[in-house]
Amino acid sequence: MDTYKHSLAPRFANMLVEREARLRAILHDTGEVISQAPQAREHEVQDFKDIAVCETQAVVDEAQADHAVHELEQVLAARRRINDQSYGMCLDCGEPIDLRRLMAMPASAFCTGCQSIHEHERPLLARRSTAHGTKGRFS
Ligand SMILES: [Zn+2]
Repeated sequence: MDTYKHSLAPRFANMLVEREARLRAILHDTGEVISQAPQAREHEVQDFKDIAVCETQAVVDEAQADHAVHELEQVLAARRRINDQSYGMCLDCGEPIDLRRLMAMPASAFCTGCQSIHEHERPLLARRSTAHGTKGRFS
């Protein structure tokens, strides 16, 4: 199994910076759509089909924004780990993470085994983050 070496840091830092820029763009876009929606509704009250489309769009964007906020947190944490040289190690068991896994998902914080344990816990985590409303923290 190939593992992360510190000599790969610039390459991974680049991938994470690009990912961060894309996520910030998504959050910026969805933020605009959501804030414009009430205004559009006022001006076109008679067109119910437009209103329905507008509201559906807002819900989709909100889900997308929540996902982007969550992923952005992981990307920022991964960049911190590159800086303090703990990147590439599983946060749970401390074993090196498979390099192919890091190439596919540079923000991965866990090895494949520990990640599958976390996936079982995810429904609980998702409920918790919705309750506190994570949207807009990075805009
Ligand atoms: Zn692990």
